[in-house]
Amino acid sequence: MTVADLQPHIMVIDDDPFVLGVLTHQLTSLGCQHLLTCREARHAMDVMEAAEAVVELIFCDLDMPDIDGIEFVRFLGSIGYRGGVVLVSGEDIRVLQTAERLAMAHNLRVLGTLHKPISLADLSAMLVLQGDVTTTLNPHTALRQYLPDELRQGIANGELVNHYQPLVSLSSGDVIGVETLVRWQHPVDGLIYPDRFISLAEDHNLIDDLTRCVLSQAMGRVSEWNALDFKLHVSVNLSMNNLASLQFPDFVAMTAAANDIPLSRLVLEVTESRLMRNRIAALDILTRLRLKHVSLSIDDFGTGHSSLVQLRDVPFDQLKIDRSFVHGAWRDNSLRAIFEGSLSMARQLGMVSVAEGVEDEEDWHFLRATDCDLAQGYFIARPMPAEQLPDWMAHWQQQRQSLFA
Ligand code: C2E
Ligand code: CA
Ligand code: CA
Repeated sequence: MTVADLQPHIMVIDDDPFVLGVLTHQLTSLGCQHLLTCREARHAMDVMEAAEAVVELIFCDLDMPDIDGIEFVRFLGSIGYRGGVVLVSGEDIRVLQTAERLAMAHNLRVLGTLHKPISLADLSAMLVLQGDVTTTLNPHTALRQYLPDELRQGIANGELVNHYQPLVSLSSGDVIGVETLVRWQHPVDGLIYPDRFISLAEDHNLIDDLTRCVLSQAMGRVSEWNALDFKLHVSVNLSMNNLASLQFPDFVAMTAAANDIPLSRLVLEVTESRLMRNRIAALDILTRLRLKHVSLSIDDFGTGHSSLVQLRDVPFDQLKIDRSFVHGAWRDNSLRAIFEGSLSMARQLGMVSVAEGVEDEEDWHFLRATDCDLAQGYFIARPMPAEQLPDWMAHWQQQRQSLFA
């Protein structure tokens, strides 16, 4: 291929020609087109570096003689690859699990791992997951970086839209609230996810405008849901940079009052994604918000961004255990230990505990056996546009009957 091909491709990397042949055959039988096969990771790197093709999904063997799967994963992280990754190996399952975590630490979208020999059913399950990833990947824009002015215009033109993901009680199944997750409805590129524009907003002084826009939209929705008799809490993500503006608590209070929403229904989620530039201002703002009865949630707990120091200093009343300690904790002793440790800390500090990343029924059953308060994740619902929430609520009422049977 000499000219960049804009069709999204699936890349398969394995040094064993037999495995490569079988996997290619299986993928074709599942309806996949545009396959690229590589017997050496070096070749795959050349294709990616030269941007010869748009790659949306990679199946990568871990054990290869020249450059192995771990080195390749590191390479993918370094070029900011945004597609899906599936790790394949015949090794001990724990090696696969560790490799998976490593890939996630490089911010890669790991769909899962496959143990050789690969069954058609497992492969097909990966492709279903990939379907959800691809909706975020328009081949023309997969690598596009946005300019601050484009985002500024987008905010001014009202192109930011909120999606909402439900949080449910693990003991009753009641829907307690929703988390607001912002997206950018770009006029040309389609729906853009926040990991592609939040740092841009933080770096170019746009985060206050962004958050105000997200918060006002969310409050408006809560007020509409109130009218439908859904009494929901609403969580909004804050950036540490929001906590530099001393007027922020007043803006929050005004917006809530304008929509007739008690502040006790608002939850603000904070991670320490960047060092607090002005620690005193941040503590001042967080404490004032708490005094106004806004709930404060420590997000991504356990990842190192959300540290124990923050728990000591900030009056948080909710703790969200990061999804990397939730999904799969039922089968992984180390994840379970971290999960249970975090939970016990939340309990001792009198905080509401939330498990993020509940992706499948096993995760759900595991959590039901703990005393974690709330759960959130794809198994319950994906983030959705506000208009879809009433239908989802009706659907959940049916589903919960079987889940709580
Ligand atoms: P977050 O606060 O940790 O939000 C949860 C992210 O996990 C969301 O990604 C959500 O779609 C995804 N998620 C939910 N359930 C599952 C699951 O079961 N499995 C997996 N693998 N993922 C799940 P999203 O919407 O792409 O948001 C990414 C991050 O962007 C958020 O992470 C948050 O840090 C940031 N963000 C989103 N909206 C805003 C905002 O309005 N302001 C700020 N400052 N940051 C925001
Ligand atoms: Ca969050
Ligand atoms: Ca989180």
